[in-house]
Amino acid sequence: MTDAKPSARSFCSGGLTVSRPTATEGVAWEKVANSIEFIPAEFSVRDQPESVAQEMLRCGPEEIDRLIDAGLPFERRSGVRCFDANDLYNLGMYSDSGKTQPELTFRLLFRFARRPVDDLLRAKEWDFRVSLECVDCPEEAPWRLEEPDVLRFGGSVAGVTRPSVSRGSAGFTATVTTTGARTPVVSPVLRRLTGEYLDAGYRWQMIPVPMQAHPDRVHAMGATSCIAASLHLAESFRAAGYRAEAKRGWFCGVLGGALDLPHACVEVEDDDGAVKTVDIAKSQLAARLSADTEQFQELCLGSIYNKVIPSTASGNAPFGYHDCGSQLPIRVHTDIQAVR
Ligand SMILES: [Zn+2]
Repeated sequence: MTDAKPSARSFCSGGLTVSRPTATEGVAWEKVANSIEFIPAEFSVRDQPESVAQEMLRCGPEEIDRLIDAGLPFERRSGVRCFDANDLYNLGMYSDSGKTQPELTFRLLFRFARRPVDDLLRAKEWDFRVSLECVDCPEEAPWRLEEPDVLRFGGSVAGVTRPSVSRGSAGFTATVTTTGARTPVVSPVLRRLTGEYLDAGYRWQMIPVPMQAHPDRVHAMGATSCIAASLHLAESFRAAGYRAEAKRGWFCGVLGGALDLPHACVEVEDDDGAVKTVDIAKSQLAARLSADTEQFQELCLGSIYNKVIPSTASGNAPFGYHDCGSQLPIRVHTDIQAVR
């Protein structure tokens, strides 16, 4: 990724305040703000300071003022205006400037989706590290982690180091090998239900994980996201008489955790008796990012590919727990790097 031009800064020179043009000065930010749905207050965490917002959106304070006038929620922390990270990501993604950090990150992240899919079907090795953090942890206790669950899909796990009994923090490391296989969904019913969801016009947005546990809330905004989409689709598969469950996992190649993109898909028992995975939101996101990703979009409907590490966690369950009695959920941060 080439670094974009320095974002705008007002600077003082001989008593004159001069405004430098910003990378996204020409963007109609009011329109962009109107085109996305901001995260509702009850799920919003406004902890990203204005300096981060300017950097992400490649803009200056004037553009931030315009966004706030157009409805971007914020709160002041120690005198600084702070924003929800999801709101900033969605503004950037839908700015169509081609210059904001979210656009550059997603383009890089989904570069693979435009290539021939054969690369996604071969065995691939990942250095997999999870750090677990329990805030305000009262005592030493065992940790439980929903581990990588790749054996069922032809993968393997080696060199596992599990968290020992401890207080506050712990880690899990392993070398995970994933692979892919072309196993498209054969059931016409499952294909129809999937197609109906894709055609329903929901717009992909970054949505906080706790909100995604309520797919109806997400869909009511006209939006969709991996976990919400998978929970909803699993429900409609079950209503049609299929055995289906939304499962969480990790989407690899995420640039050292620069973008913590929550991943989920639906596991469903197809008419041929095999368990297939439907990765509906990735299919939709790839379509949104680039039209020439049909092969990858089709791969998402039943097949497995080597950039996803499935876990044992169900659709809206946490990845980990600490048995210390603390009422706060633990923080789980994953860093997954390709082994060269
Ligand atoms: Zn604890």
